[in-house]
Amino acid sequence: MIPFGYSRPKDVTEAIALEGRQPQSKFLGGGTNLVDLMKMGVENPAHLIDITRLPLSQIEERPEGVRIGAMVRNSDLAAHPLILRKYPILSEAILAGASPQIRNMATTGGNLLQRTRCPYFYDPSYAECNKRVPGSGCAAIQGFNRMHAILGGSDQCIATYPGDMAVGLTALDASVVIRGPRGERSVPIDNFYRLPGATPRIEHDLNANEVIVAVDLPAGSAGLPSHYVKVRDRNSYAFALASAAAVVDIGPDNRIRQARIALGGVATKPWRVPEAEMSLRGKAAGEPAFREAAEILVRGARPYRYNAFKVELARRAAVRAAPVRL
Ligand code: SF4
Repeated sequence: MIPFGYSRPKDVTEAIALEGRQPQSKFLGGGTNLVDLMKMGVENPAHLIDITRLPLSQIEERPEGVRIGAMVRNSDLAAHPLILRKYPILSEAILAGASPQIRNMATTGGNLLQRTRCPYFYDPSYAECNKRVPGSGCAAIQGFNRMHAILGGSDQCIATYPGDMAVGLTALDASVVIRGPRGERSVPIDNFYRLPGATPRIEHDLNANEVIVAVDLPAGSAGLPSHYVKVRDRNSYAFALASAAAVVDIGPDNRIRQARIALGGVATKPWRVPEAEMSLRGKAAGEPAFREAAEILVRGARPYRYNAFKVELARRAAVRAAPVRL
C-alpha cells in the first residue's frame, strides 16, 4: 500500500470542502471494499476523508417515506424495526450479502458504491481492464467470464454490479440523496448507476466532490408484498450468480396493480425493464404472469463463453422472487 493522508471532518460541509482541497482524495465509509482495493493496488488515493463519524446514522420516518442516513451500518439497517415492518425486502437483500462482520462495518452509502468483483479488475497484474486502465482492453470478454454480465455490457466491459442491497432498493423505487458544493439533489436509484458503454470507469452519477448523505424509501412501496432471491455458489459470503427483487401491489381480486422487479448478478447495474413490469399489470398474480415478465427481463441477453447458464438462472430467480404463492 502506498502512503496516504487522513482527515476526519466534523460535518458534511467540511467533508466536501476537504475533498475540494485535496487532490485524489476519497471518502472513507466502512472501508470494506475501498481498503481491499487499496491493498491490491487498484485504488491509490492520496488522501482519505473519514466520514464515518458524520451525523448521518439516523433512520427517520417522514410523511413521504423513510430516510436512511448514508452512515447507517448494514447490520443496523437490516435489523431496524421500521425496515422489517415496512420494507422487509431491504433486510432480506442486505442479509443475503457479505458476512455478519462485514455488514457490521459496511455503510449504506458505501454499499451503493462498492465496485465490481471482476477478477481482472481486482488484480493489477492483468494488463487488460478498461475499468482500471481506460483503453487497455477487457480480459474478461475472451477470458473466464462465468461471473460476468449477460445484460447491460458493452464491448469495453461486462463486469457485473456485485451488490444485493441496491437490487432491493431498485425494486423499492428508492432515491439516492447527494450533497455537493452546490447543494443537495436526489437521484432515482435506477438513474444513479450507469451502463459501461465506452466509459466503464464511470459507474454512477456521483461527481468527485459529492457525497451520498442518505437513501430515501418512498411511502408508496411501504408494506407491499415483496421478496428477494439470491442464487450463488455457496449459501453464505458469496456474490450472486443471479438475484431478483420483486415488489408487487396486488388488489383484492388477486390482480396485479403494479410491480417492480430488479435483477442482480447478471447485469452491469441493478437491472429493471419497465416493459416487464407493465406486462404484469392487470394480470392474475400467479406463475404464468411472472414467467412472461421474466422472459421480457432477459430479452436481449448476451451470454459469453462461460456464463450462458445465467439466462435461465435469471429467469428462474425472477419467477421465484414473485411474492405470491405460485
Ligand atoms: Fe475490466 Fe470490466 Fe473487462 Fe472486468 S469486465 S476486465 S472490469 S473491463
